[in-house]
Amino acid sequence: MNFTNILTRLGVDESVYAKGDLVVDTPIDGSTIGRVASDNAVTIKEAISKAHDAFLKWRAVPAPRRGELVRLIGEELRAHKEDLGRLVTIECGKILSEGLGEVQEMIDICDFAVGLSRQLYGLTIASERPGHHMRETWQPLGPVGIISAFNFPVAVWSWNAALALVCGNPCLWKPSEKTPLTALAVQALFDRAAAKFGDAPEGLSQVTIGARDAGEQLVDDARIALVSATGSTRMGREVGPRVAARFGRSLLELGGNNAAIAAPSADLELSVRAICFSAAGTAGQRCTSLRRLFVHEDIYDSLVPRLKKAYASLPVGDPLEEGSLVGPLIDHAAFDCMHYALDRARAQGGAITGGERVGDRGYYVRPAIVELKAHEGIACEETFAPILYVMRYRDLDKAIAMQNSVVQGLSSCIFTRDLLEAERFLSATGSDCGIANVNIGPSGAEIGGAFGGEKETGGGRESGSDAWKAYMRRQTQTVNYSPDLPLAQGVKFDV
Ligand code: NAD
Repeated sequence: MNFTNILTRLGVDESVYAKGDLVVDTPIDGSTIGRVASDNAVTIKEAISKAHDAFLKWRAVPAPRRGELVRLIGEELRAHKEDLGRLVTIECGKILSEGLGEVQEMIDICDFAVGLSRQLYGLTIASERPGHHMRETWQPLGPVGIISAFNFPVAVWSWNAALALVCGNPCLWKPSEKTPLTALAVQALFDRAAAKFGDAPEGLSQVTIGARDAGEQLVDDARIALVSATGSTRMGREVGPRVAARFGRSLLELGGNNAAIAAPSADLELSVRAICFSAAGTAGQRCTSLRRLFVHEDIYDSLVPRLKKAYASLPVGDPLEEGSLVGPLIDHAAFDCMHYALDRARAQGGAITGGERVGDRGYYVRPAIVELKAHEGIACEETFAPILYVMRYRDLDKAIAMQNSVVQGLSSCIFTRDLLEAERFLSATGSDCGIANVNIGPSGAEIGGAFGGEKETGGGRESGSDAWKAYMRRQTQTVNYSPDLPLAQGVKFDV
């Protein structure tokens, strides 16, 4: 784990992580890999002021030119994909191919945003008044505060920042206190891109280090036009109302309790692979991780034993080692949460396979399958760990109703080769989630689609499609090019 060299190549000076109050441990073996200094109320206030000043300049730069900066960020990411991907693995514990995949996702969203910078389209609208033009345009919004979770330590920044920057907004990023080093590395890459760009205003992209109180300062400052917050529903429940209280805008990407339905015609081989990736992959620490599986009673006895067999052979271990498929949980607290959930499942009569700790350095666990008789209790909560609750169903409508009965609404899927079942699942009366898939698991989204979920997942949409509109101010414009002043709706007001 030659980690100092990686940071040096990424442009992070040793002095940045040599001392400070925030201790950074790697989940790989629990050892301390750095100490960084937290910001305080004064330095955060200064950063917000800088972001505000940068906005006044950046909003006037033509959008395609703003796209050029994002293109350069993408180039830096391409050049440093290996190092940044490795750092992601070291700091948050996901396996290396997923660490690299996360950086690839950053590159993809940069490419997307560069194209978008020439496509921030508005509308031309027919006016009812003679000699008038109406149109709808999209204007830069203001500084964007990005609060991110530990499990996608860099991709979430890029989903937000690439769009925000082309839309004309500076970004101020508060990464998870568990993963500050990857954020500082991304900032160093941004600084290189900005230097090549030439005239990016100071403070266009900044990182502020700290825990919840640092996030709260972004939440409460009226100069932060949009707070994009990714994390637990608990966090969103606090952030949403506080931003609303100052009439700010928030984009919330919160917890999920994602489900799959395995229907009678499911391809069992494909289903087992997809279920393993989405339930056990990333050690169950994706917001889109599969947590609940409804299996039709006709295939239960063929699917579930196969799944258990595949689970038993999943390689659990050092995420930097080739061949490992399940890395560690982020920390001791995550391990405790997993065991608390398994205890509750046991008390509910659940039959548990797996779940035991593997090794004694770091918090590695064998992913668990919990067979439950009823969909209730702990199965309806998000536990950020590799626990898959498995239940039987007979009637598809009832399975869909059970899937939709939880408070979260992020991702969902069905395994079926029956067209009618697939379309039923995707219909208005089917899945109520932001993401609904057929014959793939609920995790592993591409950047081209809008990403996010309903209900207590927060309702936000990031990344592709028209998610960019959240980062802009919509303006309806009417121009009178006639010498007269006809009023709308035939109103008369002659003076
Ligand atoms: P967390 O809620 O503990 O922390 C997330 C971030 O919010 C951190 O930066 C933290 O410092 C900050 N924060 C916490 N309380 C805050 C407050 N009151 N005001 C402002 N900032 C605050 O989440 P975590 O443990 O880092 O991540 C796991 C959770 O994130 C899971 O619930 C997972 O489902 C969710 N998540 C959701 C998505 C999504 O896109 N929907 C993506 C990744 C993770």
